[in-house]
Amino acid sequence: MLHYEPLMSSTEDSAATEAAPLVSVTRRPTKVTKYGNMHYFGSCCGTPIVFGPNVGTMLCTYAMVLVPCVCFYVFILPGSDIIMWVAGSIVPVGITLSMLGATATDPGVLEAGVNAVGEDGDVSHGTFNTNMEKAKKCVTCKLWQPAGTVHCKTCGVCIAGHDHHCVWMGKCVGRDNLGYFHAFLTMVVIAPAFMLITCLMKYGPNFGGHIRGATRGH
Ligand SMILES: [Zn+2]
Ligand SMILES: [Zn+2]
Repeated sequence: MLHYEPLMSSTEDSAATEAAPLVSVTRRPTKVTKYGNMHYFGSCCGTPIVFGPNVGTMLCTYAMVLVPCVCFYVFILPGSDIIMWVAGSIVPVGITLSMLGATATDPGVLEAGVNAVGEDGDVSHGTFNTNMEKAKKCVTCKLWQPAGTVHCKTCGVCIAGHDHHCVWMGKCVGRDNLGYFHAFLTMVVIAPAFMLITCLMKYGPNFGGHIRGATRGH
């Protein structure tokens, strides 16, 4: 069953109504605070830190990425020269940062007065407001949806530039974290190949020596 949360606090509104009963203004929130079922942890350097509702599968992704990366640093890189340390860090650091970007940033949550088409048809403050004739109203968020916006029932919010809801990222992939997600997918392909080649470069000759020694022993 769909649950409707008012866009603004009813207590705030009632207080404002008492102070100025005849004035109707479109108030805009000073900061984004509505993240539906997602988990908001404040902001860092102006970037909201938001994790999705699918925490379990997201932690599985973190484990599948971080465990090989830690093993790489513990078992492969020690003993290497500085160039190998720098070159070898590009992939583990890159995949970790792209995963953080995809899982911990705002995917493009639509909020009244920030990036949605206004109730009054005001299209002056939006980024997706050029297709008014295609706009639909979300019955849950009570927001006009610009083109490309989809309401995600799992996340509980409208996502601008919605791509899909990814349980492995824990939340939706949308306009604002799609770049991180594509970077992550690229790194997921590169990282295993890179680590395998690095392993072979380090242990390949030794493996060969073991095989030759075993052959001579017979
Ligand atoms: Zn919605
Ligand atoms: Zn979602």
